[in-house]
Amino acid sequence: MTRTAQRVPFLDLVALHEELHGELAEAALRVLRSERVLLGPELAAFEQAWAEAVGARFAVGVGSGLDALSLGLRALGVGPGDEVLVPSHTFVATWLAVVHVGAVPVPVDVSPSTGLWDAGALDAAVTSRTRAVVPVHLYGHPVDLDPVLDLAARRGLAVLDDAAQAHGARYRGRPVGGLASATAWSFYPGKNLGAVGDGGAVTTSDPEVARRLRSLRNYGSTEKYVHDEVGWNSRLDELQAALLSVKLRRLAGFTARRAEVARRYDEGLAGSGLVLPVTAAWAAPAWHLYVVRTPHRDALRAHLASLGVETGVHYPVPPHRQAAFAGTPAAAADLPVADRLAREVLSLPMGPHLDEAAQEHVLDAVWSFRP
Ligand SMILES: *Cc1c(COP(=O)(O)O)cnc(C)c1O
Repeated sequence: MTRTAQRVPFLDLVALHEELHGELAEAALRVLRSERVLLGPELAAFEQAWAEAVGARFAVGVGSGLDALSLGLRALGVGPGDEVLVPSHTFVATWLAVVHVGAVPVPVDVSPSTGLWDAGALDAAVTSRTRAVVPVHLYGHPVDLDPVLDLAARRGLAVLDDAAQAHGARYRGRPVGGLASATAWSFYPGKNLGAVGDGGAVTTSDPEVARRLRSLRNYGSTEKYVHDEVGWNSRLDELQAALLSVKLRRLAGFTARRAEVARRYDEGLAGSGLVLPVTAAWAAPAWHLYVVRTPHRDALRAHLASLGVETGVHYPVPPHRQAAFAGTPAAAADLPVADRLAREVLSLPMGPHLDEAAQEHVLDAVWSFRP
C-alpha cells in the first residue's frame, strides 16, 4: 500500500454534510418555500432547542461568534472606560469584542500545563475599573468556572464565557452555556456545531439580558421603527437556523465520536515525547481540537504535511503580538506562557469523521518523525 499517498484532512466537513445530506436539503427547502428568511420560526425553534441543550433559559441567535461576544458584553453593561479580563492564549476575536464595545482588554496569562485560566491568577488583575471577565473554554476544555464565578460575585463582575469551541462540553456534569451571566457561541462552519456560513448565539438565564440582546441584534429595536439604543444588524438567518437544528440533533453523537478519537490519540501517542492535552477531573471536553506541544513544532508539522497529514496551529501569533493591538497597554504586557504556546502548539486532525485507518496513518506519521 502506498501510505504516503493517503491524505488526512484536518477536519472533514464534506463527510459531515454527506452524512446529513437528506435532512439538510429538506431543511433548506423548507426555508426557501417559506415567507420568512429572517427572525422567523426556524430561528425561534433553534433558539429554544439550543437553550435547552445547554441548560439556559434563553438563546439569542446572532450573526457570528464575534458578534455574540460583542453584543453579550454590551448586554451585560460593559462599555467605554471599562476593563475586561481576557486570557492571553485565545483566538483574537475574544479581545476584539472588548474593543468593539469601547472597553479595554486586560490580558491574564494562562496556566502552562493546561493553556487555560487558573482562577487564582485573576484576583491580582482586578482593578476598580474591571467590569467583566471572559473565560475561554479553549480547544473545547471547560475552564474551572466555580472559582471564577466566586471571584466575580465577590468583586461585582459580569462573566461572559467564550464557548466558541465548547459545544457539548460539560463542567462538573453540567453543560457549558448555562453557568455564567451569559455565554457566547460561534457557529462558524468548522466549530463543533457549525452553520454553512457565519452564525453565533448568546445563551443566558437572565430575561433582561436576553431582552437587550434581542434589541441589540436588531438595530436597538424591539418594535418596528422604534430605536431605544444604538444597536447592530446581526441576526442568525432562517436558513442557518434550520441547518443548525438538523446538526444539533447529532451533536451528542458527534461529540462522543470526537472523544473516541481523542482517546485513541492519548493511547497512540503515549511515550512519543509530545506533550499531550490534559483533561481535568471536572471536565468532559468537547474535543474541538486535539492539541499537542513540542519545541520541534514547525519541523513536525512539515513532516506530517509531507505524508499528507493536515494540521493546524491555534494560534501562531498571540493577540498581544498582533498589529491590531500595537501601541495599546496589552501589547506591552509580559505573557510568557502565551508566547511559548504560540511556538509549540500543534493541532492534529480531529472530527467525528476521522476513521481509525486515517488516524493510524496520522500516528504512524508522528512516530516516523525524527527531530
Ligand atoms: C471561532 C472563535 C470565535 C469567533 O467566532 P466567529 O463566529 O468566527 O466570529 C471567538 N472565540 C473563539 C475562542 C473562537 O474559536
